[in-house]
Amino acid sequence: MSTAFGQSTVLGYPRIGVNRELKKAVEAYWAGTIDAEALANTAAGLRAQVWRTLRDARLDAIPSNTFSYYDQMLDTAVAVGAVPNRFARLGLSALDTYFAMARGVDAEPALELTKWFDTNYHYLVPEIAPDTVFTANPAKALDEYAEARDLGVTTRPVFVGPATFLLLAKGDDPFARLDDLVRTYARILAALADAGVDWVQLDEPAYAADRSPAEIDALRRAYTRLGELAHRPQIFVATYFGDLGDALPALLDTPVEAVGVDLVAGPGNLHRLAAAGPLGGRTIVAGLVDGRNIWRTDLRAAVTAGATVAGLADHVAVSSSCSLLHVPVDVSAETHLDPRLSARLAFARQKVDEIVVLGRALRDGTTALPAPLPPTPAAWRHDDVRGRLAALRPTDRQRGEYRNRAARQQERLGLPELPTTTIGSFPQTAELRRARAAHRAGSLDDAGYVARMRAEVAQVIRLQEQLGLDVLVHGEPERNDMVQYFGEQLDGFAATQHGWVQSYGSRCVRPPIIYGDVSRKAPMTVEWSTYAQSLTSKPVKGMLTGPVTILAWSFVRTDQPLADTADQVALALRDECRDLESAGIRVIQVDEPALRETLPLRKADQKAYLDWAVGAFRLATGGVADDTQIHTHLCYSEFGEVIHAIDALDADVTSIEASRSKMEVLDDLAAIGYGRGVGPGVWDIHSPRVPPRDEVIEALRRAVAAVPARRLWVNPDCGLKTRGYPEVEASLRHLVDAAAEVRGS
Ligand code: GLN
Ligand code: ZN
Repeated sequence: MSTAFGQSTVLGYPRIGVNRELKKAVEAYWAGTIDAEALANTAAGLRAQVWRTLRDARLDAIPSNTFSYYDQMLDTAVAVGAVPNRFARLGLSALDTYFAMARGVDAEPALELTKWFDTNYHYLVPEIAPDTVFTANPAKALDEYAEARDLGVTTRPVFVGPATFLLLAKGDDPFARLDDLVRTYARILAALADAGVDWVQLDEPAYAADRSPAEIDALRRAYTRLGELAHRPQIFVATYFGDLGDALPALLDTPVEAVGVDLVAGPGNLHRLAAAGPLGGRTIVAGLVDGRNIWRTDLRAAVTAGATVAGLADHVAVSSSCSLLHVPVDVSAETHLDPRLSARLAFARQKVDEIVVLGRALRDGTTALPAPLPPTPAAWRHDDVRGRLAALRPTDRQRGEYRNRAARQQERLGLPELPTTTIGSFPQTAELRRARAAHRAGSLDDAGYVARMRAEVAQVIRLQEQLGLDVLVHGEPERNDMVQYFGEQLDGFAATQHGWVQSYGSRCVRPPIIYGDVSRKAPMTVEWSTYAQSLTSKPVKGMLTGPVTILAWSFVRTDQPLADTADQVALALRDECRDLESAGIRVIQVDEPALRETLPLRKADQKAYLDWAVGAFRLATGGVADDTQIHTHLCYSEFGEVIHAIDALDADVTSIEASRSKMEVLDDLAAIGYGRGVGPGVWDIHSPRVPPRDEVIEALRRAVAAVPARRLWVNPDCGLKTRGYPEVEASLRHLVDAAAEVRGS
């Protein structure tokens, strides 16, 4: 049996549930309050809900195996038997082995967690050792396929493809194992065919990034081999997140029946398709509906693009540009949004409807599309902000000379050599979260809430004074999230109530939506910072989130260049910096942890991004006097590609994650002649482990060897909000002691 692909599909759908049911069930299982069977039942219910939703929407090609208890890369690792020995030997159940890989157990740290391409989703990095024996384990996919079939829904199982799987894995040249892994995929495909599976989807997003000719050849070889198998389902190779470049003709060179291209993030794919010549009986799956942003699709433009593809291929299907995992589930749950805004939004459920409409329009050649959107409401424009932007001069992004700034700042701050500080947040205790929940629910009034948070600030200041830190922070107790907090206070931003998106495992985030011109209604952080400063004679750092990170962790308007939106946010932050400064705050930190994360996948696009990203940061921080010290903070290692940009930010002090990479970043900074203050993290805050005093001393000694002591700061890797007080106190004590010890030597 071999059927056509269909007219409409999605590459994946959110699996967390409309009300984050999966998060709750998985966390309850971890806490021991429900058992494996109860967890399995919840999961089956969620899968059934998704399949019914997609079927009832009349989507005609429905994926399965897109459900995951934690992550699709981890699922694929299990499906190909790549379970590292260190977990296999624990002797746990299959489910607990899986969670052990995801979260670690006492003696065994978890697999590394890292960003999925340029998204805010994180996957677990498979570990491929020379002795890893790949084995076919299609049970999960087969079970889900059967489960859907029992509901009357025929599905297309989805896996991460073998090339992307290995390109994202770590170990000693995992990609060299491709032929070997392809044999295991062949066995998986055979098992699927045995079960009656008609189509399978293999995801190869890694080819939207720069790839060597050898890697592209390997892709061609892999799919030629899989395509030549006699006993297999029809193969759909899905790609997403950008232009495929030379990988597209390579894929089209293979016998696979369907190839998917992202026409939202990779408009160049259309030209490549056209250049590829006749596409024969192959299906092209056109990713026309943005799977990463939340705006309604311009259906007319999408039909035009789809029609172009239809002119090239015998068969075209419409799909989301990537899995809908990256957008919230359903906008109809958002009852509090301005209706003019919600009318412009499409979350996963609405995108499915768009895809179905587009699929029909392409099949029938009709143009009976829903009415286009009315023009943007005038109230969303702020002419004052636009006027300020238009009047900006290069000097607005330029501070005085660093040497002079450093001298003035030192005069004013009088800091010791190797000054100690932290990154901003102190533990978000259960009590703080309860207070926030009570405030949201209305059972704690504004005054009560503010009093509670101030008490926390006072305690955090007292603790830092006792510990003997040099530059203090207020601890950020009032912040739910470092982006949401600012989004709630800025014009042009909207917050959703249920717009959750999976970030990793059971962790979900609710990105704000930037829909209009951004402007600051009133000072946002000044009261908290000045209150903290009033309690101590030590300098207290003001604490802001930078423009790049605010954009990276929001859904951003697409009707103007990102650079313009970034500059609008930057102007609001510039005003905030000035207000903090006038209120007596001498040090201001502007966090940019996402600077590296949104770096475009292809080298050719990176310069333009870094130009506007750095420009926006400098606009945000360039309005203060020479004697106000600007800090920035970056985390999530691997700064190599953005090292020049970090320098170009021109911050007086850069604190940066370094403890896990053993201070390597300092050599990278030295190599490019970075000459300002730097605070390499000397304590890995990602685990509750307290670093022994000697270990901190050793890290510091290594740092002093790479950077002159007068430019070196002593701080943890990142904020402390996920930590508990006992380990924070002990670790900070070691940190302060270590600084004293190294100063004296
Ligand atoms: N100031 C923030 C904090 O300490 C920085 C968080 C981050 O880098 N992700 O929590
Ligand atoms: Zn950080």
